[in-house]
Amino acid sequence: MNRIHYTKPSITDLEVGYATDAARNGWGPDCYNYIHRLEHAFAQHLGVDHAISTSSCTGAMHMGLAALGIGEGDEVILGDINWIASVAPVVHVGATPVFVDVLPDSWCLDPDRVEAAVTSRTKAIVAVHLYGNLAALGQLQDIADRHGLALIEDAAEALGSHWHGQRAGSIGRFGTFSFHGTKTMTTGEGGMFVTSDPDLYERVLTLSNHGRARGQKRQFWAEEVGFKYKMSNVSAAIGCAQIERIEELVAQKRWIFEQYAQGLDGLPLSMNPEPEGCVNGYWMPTIVIDEGMAFDREALLSAFADDNIDGRVFFWPLSMLPMFDERRDNAVSYGLFGRAVNLPSYHDITGDDIARVCDVVRAQF
Ligand SMILES: *Cc1c(COP(=O)(O)O)cnc(C)c1O
Repeated sequence: MNRIHYTKPSITDLEVGYATDAARNGWGPDCYNYIHRLEHAFAQHLGVDHAISTSSCTGAMHMGLAALGIGEGDEVILGDINWIASVAPVVHVGATPVFVDVLPDSWCLDPDRVEAAVTSRTKAIVAVHLYGNLAALGQLQDIADRHGLALIEDAAEALGSHWHGQRAGSIGRFGTFSFHGTKTMTTGEGGMFVTSDPDLYERVLTLSNHGRARGQKRQFWAEEVGFKYKMSNVSAAIGCAQIERIEELVAQKRWIFEQYAQGLDGLPLSMNPEPEGCVNGYWMPTIVIDEGMAFDREALLSAFADDNIDGRVFFWPLSMLPMFDERRDNAVSYGLFGRAVNLPSYHDITGDDIARVCDVVRAQF
């Protein structure tokens, strides 16, 4: 039986052609050509004014938080169920992460819990659109506005997701994206910082250039200590091909989700929601077994392994990790992860392979 990978990028002759051109010609005066082209195309796709390419989403978030002046003594609210990359930059700038429970259906921040967690030290809310699902942006923006906080979108998993006509990542004060090899679009490693706030853009641009402001005439003159989280031109070349193909890449993700939704219909589980007014980019089809059903996650994962299928566990509550304080009162988060598994969803997966995955899931009930 062929191995069914959980993710793997979709690479065509277009990516290979651009990358080859960048490797052959993209040096000297042309060393930023693909970088600028990618930033422009990405900003256009998203409907934002500015985009700055980075070496990772983590780096984009680090610079954004630093640019907002968030640091020692400040608190940043984020969902407990999350990838570690969303919180690492909060710790790197010296701020305190406050893990708040998530909603049982979207697995994203619960706005009521966010409201209750705001203190005089809170500076920002990081809304992560988990597995393509949209966070409750309307309510979160309202809380942010009333308390004078920045609403930040970690949209690493939400390329292709729309919230009432606006693209995920374009709505908050700034948004961040990842182009890691597992994501909907890839540059190998890479990311993007996006914003429509011109001052914030200038600030991050300076920080991203080792503290050297645009227009500074003195060579090698830095005005502050900044960062070095840049994307290479060769990586950006791959990204230029991927952003040209983005509608196709997202359509494949949506097709894959549909196949799973049909194949698993009738089982006692729920999957990524797509509420009224929203479009889900379905980065990663995920099943959450109904509460109260007998379900052994390890048994499912080992059944996948026996059938040469990659299974992937849901993110752990971050507050379970040894470097943070446990928050067992985040009952939804703590009740969720053990009942949830991500299903294989690389772009070129076939309908037959999806059926094979569904058969293994079905056999658990
Ligand atoms: C992948 C991911 C990141 C990190 O992306 P990198 O490019 O690896 O830094 C951050 N947040 C979320 C939600 C992610 O899924």
